[in-house]
Amino acid sequence: MGDDHAMQTEAACSILTIDLTAVTDNWRLLRDRAAPAACAAVVKADAYGLGIDPVAPALADAGCTLFFVATLDEGLRLRGLLPQVEVAVLGGLLPGTAPIFLRDRLIPVLNDLGQVERWRAETAKAGQAAPAILHVDTGMNRLGLDPQETEKLAADPALLEGIEITYVMTHMACPDEPSHPLNAAQLTRFRVALASLPGAKGSLAASSAIFLGPDYHFDLVRPGAALYGVNPTPGAPNPMRQAVRLEGRVLQVRHVDRGEGVGYGATRRCDKPSKIATVATGYADGYLRALSNRGVARIAGHEVPMIGRVSMDLLTFDVTDLPEGLVYPGGLMELLGEGYTPDDAARDAGTIGYEILTSLGSRYARHYIGAGA
Ligand SMILES: *Cc1c(COP(=O)(O)O)cnc(C)c1O
Repeated sequence: MGDDHAMQTEAACSILTIDLTAVTDNWRLLRDRAAPAACAAVVKADAYGLGIDPVAPALADAGCTLFFVATLDEGLRLRGLLPQVEVAVLGGLLPGTAPIFLRDRLIPVLNDLGQVERWRAETAKAGQAAPAILHVDTGMNRLGLDPQETEKLAADPALLEGIEITYVMTHMACPDEPSHPLNAAQLTRFRVALASLPGAKGSLAASSAIFLGPDYHFDLVRPGAALYGVNPTPGAPNPMRQAVRLEGRVLQVRHVDRGEGVGYGATRRCDKPSKIATVATGYADGYLRALSNRGVARIAGHEVPMIGRVSMDLLTFDVTDLPEGLVYPGGLMELLGEGYTPDDAARDAGTIGYEILTSLGSRYARHYIGAGA
């Protein structure tokens, strides 16, 4: 009965397949590339939309022992999934949260001197030293101690009493543009900050900076997007494996006369008698409306152009030129995958692969394949 229900509903859904082996292979590639630096995994935003529940345990099985999340809630969720791993929370240590961090052995990323003091007070109260990561800003101006605060801290080590600083980290603004002058500037400022905090291990590189070379690796790298298949080296071939495949369910195939419009706003008219496939995916599923008249689907090696606007629940593709019998109600067309990657969709939508992945919706039937699935 239950199985029956699953089978029936699945037959009406678009399907999102996530390859956990691609994710763990990507982690191993980055780990090897960054060695002897250690390699963490950033699994914020539900592992960039792929699903933290299956993704984080697969990465832990592959050997990852340190995970970064954005929020305390994400940290608690990950702690529940993986009692043994180290979990660092990038958002920092907000007022009132220190006891929760301590109780659940979460590592706060300390972003200002107030947070340093808060953690020092909490560890003193508990009578135990506890780890933290210190975030220094080197030019991104988003999170982290500003240079004056870093100087203050360096001049007064007592401020860190009872805190075990496992890493000093910073984050880069332009690592996907190798020739951007801010890269070298941030590298220099980070070296200065590190030298002022003796004994501290360093962490600077997210996905793209790993490919700027060993100068940028320090003791720990923190890749996110590249784990999930986004190209960390835009402009050069993608060294990562694709981890997501999205297949849209065809609901109807219809014949449309020459001169007729398709979809909201009738933004595109058929210049000949046409065949339109309507697919059960839309902007409510995170298929960005900016892909209207631009997106591409694939079926059996053929590329099929979108025609008309992206609706909330529906997409329309022009399948006029496809061989007879390839597209039929209940069948599937590939909306994302090897042939049209999240980076390709991002280019067509005027965004980045990160946003395509983190927008992936909750209405798909999700299949996990590969390592640990
Ligand atoms: C999101 C994030 C990362 C991971 O960045 P990617 O570009 O996805 O690899 C690393 N460090 C910090 C501070 C971040 O916010």
